[in-house]
Formats: sequence, structure tokens, C-alpha cells
Amino acid sequence: MTDTPHKSHGRLSMSATASPRELMTDRPRLKDAWEARVITLFPEAFPGTLGLSLTGKALQEGLWRLGTVDLRQFGEGRHRNIDDTPAGGGAGMVMRPDILARAIDHALRDVPKDRTRWPLIYLSPRGKPFTQARARTLSQAEGMTLICGRFEGVDERVIEHYGIEEVSIGDYVLTGGEIAAQVLIDATVRLIPRVLGNQASVEEESFSAFLLEHPQYTKPALWEGRAIPDILLSGHHAKIAEWRRVEAERLTKERRPDLWRAYCESHGRDPDGDQEL
Ligand code: SAH
Repeated sequence: MTDTPHKSHGRLSMSATASPRELMTDRPRLKDAWEARVITLFPEAFPGTLGLSLTGKALQEGLWRLGTVDLRQFGEGRHRNIDDTPAGGGAGMVMRPDILARAIDHALRDVPKDRTRWPLIYLSPRGKPFTQARARTLSQAEGMTLICGRFEGVDERVIEHYGIEEVSIGDYVLTGGEIAAQVLIDATVRLIPRVLGNQASVEEESFSAFLLEHPQYTKPALWEGRAIPDILLSGHHAKIAEWRRVEAERLTKERRPDLWRAYCESHGRDPDGDQEL
């Protein structure tokens, strides 16, 4: 798929639904564009919100690529079943390792074996929490393969066998991995050069330096009796930058003591005092 992303591979076409395939065929392709490959029971969920605005425009321009692998195509029997009851009993269904393995083999067949160049990730509430730092390393890879779970998740053996990394988007449980996959892809794609028009905004925003972003304002200057802080209208760039830094620090300290400690550590400051160490 790296060279021929819109080609159909027999009945196991990389993209089983109209919308992602359309996006994949009608746009110019840059040969080395970063690629997300998603194994899912619901390929029609893609590109979803990723097809809108800046990420959608970048997808059409070929700055990144998106392919889906329809897990159902690898199922067994008349209904193409992909799941079965949990060993040991209990509620729900578990995705079968043998069927998932076929989809994974198909998805991995033409990508680099080195997982730093091309990570293999299962979206999972048990996974390592996703961060801005991880989005940055993902954006520096050549692409990634994402596995979206459904039901009670996947058979543990397939995770062990392929050495699959588990990544969580937060401490709550979703119905399926598709939304989580879109979260990872969105956060990563916007870090790819030229996807956002204004690259500076990526460097200044929340988490880039362990700080939450300062408050933002725009016109009108007075709204419902609330004025934009004078300093932002002063045209004094150094003072504006200083105000923003102070506000970012204030918000981070108030809302995210964990980030505030990391920030202070990286800046040689005492998290409990206002003085530099
Ligand atoms: N029984 C599982 C939850 C299954 S939820 C458990 O308790 O751990 C069904 C699927 O949704 C999962 O397989 C996973 O792919 C996805 N999912 C749910 N919550 C998620 C989260 N916080 N982060 C990433 N993926 C999640």
C-alpha cells in the first residue's frame, strides 16, 4: 500500500468503504507521506472528523495517508464471525486471535518491521496514557498501524504474539477503539509539517513545554461588559509574551499540579515557591 494505496488487494481491499477510498484515489500522493493504517470492524467510521478542516485538506493534498483494513473480511462462516465467548465465562464477546492475526499480517505486509519506524498499537483502556510527547514521536515515524477493539477487547495472546503496544486515551471506557484511533491520528497529523498553516501555533500551544496554554481573546474588544486585557491590545510584544507566560504558569499550577511539577523540574524551579531555585 505504500506505493499503491488505492489498489484493491483482491477481496481484502485496504479500504472497504466509499468515503476513505474516494479520498485516497482522488488526491495527489507524496511518496513518503506519513500513513495511518487502521484495523477496524467499522471502516465507514473513517475518515470521520479527520476528513474535515485542516486534517481533511492535508489528507486530500497527500500530506498524509489513511487506509482501513476491514476486520469483517477476515471473519469465518456465513456471518464472517470475528468474536467468541470469553474463556472462563462472563459477559460479552472477545475478538478471536486467529482472525485478528490475519488482518494484522495483511496490514503489516508492506511496512517497515522496525516498530520505531512503524508502531503497531492496540487502542485500549489498559494502555499507556497518550500524551503530546507521544504524538510528537508518532509524527516522526513513517506511519503506524492501529487496532480498534470492540466488545470486551482482544484475546491476550495476539497482543503477546505480535508484541503489540497498548495505548489509552484516558481513564474511561469507550464502546470501541475507532474514536480513540481518530484521537491519536488527529494529534499526530497536525504535527506533520505543513498540515497546520501556521507552524508556530504548534510550538506555543498546551503541553509543548509542560504548560497549559494562556487564555485567548479576539474581537469584540468589549463583550457583555468584559474587556480584553489591556496588555494584549498594547502592541508591546515583549510585555504580551511575559503576560502569556505568567498566565500559562498560573493556569497550570491551578489546574494541573502534575504538569506544574514537571515544568518546575525542567526549569530548575521550586514547585511550591514562586522563586527560582
Ligand atoms: N473490557 C475492556 C474494555 C473494552 S471497550 C476493559 O475493561 O479493558 C472496547 C474497545 O474500546 C477496546 O477494545 C478498545 O479498543 C476501545 N477503548 C475503550 N476505552 C478506551 C480508552 N480509554 N482508550 C483507548 N481505547 C479504548
